[in-house]
Order: sequence, then structure tokens, then C-alpha cells
Amino acid sequence: MNYKNFPMVPRVIFGRGSFSQINDVLSPKRSSIHAPFIFLIDDVFKNNTWLISRIKLSYDDKIIFVSTKDEPKTTQVDELVEDIIVKSKARPSGIIGIGGGSLLDLAKAVAILITNEGEAKDYQGWDLVKNPAIYHVGIPTISGTGAEVSRTAILTGPKLKLGINSDFTPFDQVILDPELTRDVAKDQWFYTGMDCYVHCVESLNGTYLNEFSKTYGEKSFELCKEIFLSDTISEEESQDKLMMASWHGGMSIAYSQVGVAHAMSYGLSFLLGVKHGIGNCLVFDHLDEFYPEGVAIYKQMKAKHGIELPQGICKNLSDEEFDIMIGVALSLEPLWENAIGKNWKETITPEKLKGLYKKI
Ligand code: NAD
Ligand code: ZN
Repeated sequence: MNYKNFPMVPRVIFGRGSFSQINDVLSPKRSSIHAPFIFLIDDVFKNNTWLISRIKLSYDDKIIFVSTKDEPKTTQVDELVEDIIVKSKARPSGIIGIGGGSLLDLAKAVAILITNEGEAKDYQGWDLVKNPAIYHVGIPTISGTGAEVSRTAILTGPKLKLGINSDFTPFDQVILDPELTRDVAKDQWFYTGMDCYVHCVESLNGTYLNEFSKTYGEKSFELCKEIFLSDTISEEESQDKLMMASWHGGMSIAYSQVGVAHAMSYGLSFLLGVKHGIGNCLVFDHLDEFYPEGVAIYKQMKAKHGIELPQGICKNLSDEEFDIMIGVALSLEPLWENAIGKNWKETITPEKLKGLYKKI
């Protein structure tokens, strides 16, 4: 048995309003006046002075607003890196990602590609990164993905949607300020929140489960039930709790793995561009046979919040398109092994997946 030696985020701040400490956190990390901090920020905040005015830009520091219309792509990382290198007099002092999972993953990937030659697609996979990334900071503005704590930066490349999984991927610093999530739209809050819930269900019901993953997973699962099912929880309490549920959910899968919903959701995302949170929800609706208790509770949560998912999105797909989705899903072997066990190939066949996809 070879036990994983998992790197963790070494520094973290938690608290409502803690985002205001950003300048104090960064200033000792500036390597020279020519080495800027580059802020990659979700463009939903472009005109949000409440957030942006708290960032004090000095010297050549720069904000780059990034659209999250599509999930991050390897080519987008390459373009950002090129732009940053060409326009900076020296290697940047750091990359700061502010936004949801999309921005957090972009920031991690850009920080890696600044010190590693080649293109982002070359590093999709496990432990392909050779040099440490530059200093990078993650500041989530929506809770659920666990990207703030994870060892991966998930990117859609020419061939696959696959993470840059490496010891150099995790952030050097995270700022958890639940107040930053206050303006998230209700549907999006639910979809990204369910990403966390599904992480817990898949981790807690997987064959890779161990006490490390279980303790984090159980706490996160408990918090999710409170957040999404309680009638008395206040908005602030719910924001605080979901931010910590996301962190714990991420910690849980760090030492286990996700499962059926994630494998199938990656297929949907690759072929149809369906985003991760809603993709998990679409798939999870039909996974009673794998996660009976988890799916029943999920359906209660969905009903309580009046969430309506799109229907029939796979209805008119061709056989070739089904094959692409199925190919992506089946390529994620560790997810199936975790979900079903070592003999997963006996039951998880292309026909089986086609039957499930057809229901979506
Ligand atoms: P996201 O980052 O794509 O953002 C979703 C939407 O919410 C966007 O429209 C964004 O503009 C908006 N938004 C974010 N913060 C807001 C705020 N405070 N107020 C108003 N609107 C706000 O969504 P996500 O679900 O957080 O992330 C999904 C991405 O994360 C996917 O690309 C997925 O692959 C990735 N992911 C990564 C990991 C990991 O461990 N690295 C884990 C799970 C998912
Ligand atoms: Zn996920």
C-alpha cells in the first residue's frame, strides 16, 4: 500500500469581512516593484465597487476580468499566461483568483504555467508538473466546489476535461470570506452547493473511504442537510456554513475520490458544455440505484427550494455523440473503482451508461 502524501493549503483566513485584509496579506509577498500581483477576477464583479475598491493596486499590479460563460479551457490558460508574461517587466509576485471554481482553477493553472514551459494541456493528468508554481491565492465568492482546497485545477482541453493534479496546484493562501457570496443567484447557489453535497455522498459511499475522508465528509454532509433543509437557518449562518461545508467536502475527496455522478457529469460537460454544478444535479436525479439515501435527500432539497432542472437534454443526441460522452465518463477509472469496486467493468458497460444518459 502506498499512502498518499497530500499537500494542504498552508495558510487560511476565515471570517465575514476578512477580504479587507487582502493588501496586508499580499504586501510581504511582493518580490520587487517590477513584479506585479495579477488579480484574475470573475467579470460579474466588474462594476462591483464594494469588492473591487478594497484591492489596492501598486506599481504594475493588474486586474484581469474573466468571463465564466464557459468553464476554463487549456487554451484560455495559455492566452492568459502569454499576456501576463509579455506585459510584465519581471515574473509576477503572485496570482490571485477571485470567483467561483472556474476562477480558482484558472488562477492555479496560470500560476503553474508561468514557471513550467509548454502548454496547459501538457499538464492535464497526474503529477506532470515539474517546477513549483508562483505564489497563488484563492478567494472563493461562491461555495461548493472545494476548489479552494483541492490539489487539482480542472480544465477542458482538446481531448478531455481533466485536472492538472499536482503537489504544486494547491493555493499558498486562501481567504474565506462568506460575505463575498451574498449576491449569488438562487439557482447557482443550489447547483454549486449540490456539488459539495454530491462530493460528500460519493466520498462517503465509495470503496476508497477511510477515517480521514469520513470525518470531513460526515461533517460536510451534516452541514449540507442543515443549509438546504432547515427552516430556521439565517442567511448569514447559511453562507458561513456552506463555505465550511465546501472546504470539508474538498478535504474529504482529497483522500478518497468522487464517483458516478462526477464521471457522468464530465461527459455531459465535455460534449454539451453543461456546467459542473448543474451537470451533477442533472445526473444525480437518476442515480437512486447507486446512492439511494443520498438521492432521496437531494430530491427533498430540490423540492424545498423549487429548483427546476432542464429536461430532455440528451433526447436528440446521435449515437456518435452518446459514444463521446460515454468515452469521457468511462475514461475516469478511479471514479468508477471508488464507486463500484475493483470489478466495476462487469456492470458499468457502455450500454448501461447510455441507458442512464438517455433519461437526462
Ligand atoms: P463558476 O465559477 O463557474 O461560477 C458560476 C456562476 O456564478 C458564474 O456565472 C459566476 O459569474 C457566478 N458568481 C460567482 N460568484 C458570484 C457572486 N458572489 N455573486 C454573483 N454571482 C457569482 O461556478 P462554480 O460552480 O463555483 O465552479 C465550477 C467550476 O469549478 C467548473 O469549471 C468545475 O470543473 C470546477 N471545479 C473544480 C474543482 C476543483 O477541485 N478544482 C472541484 C469542483 C469543480
Ligand atoms: Zn464536483
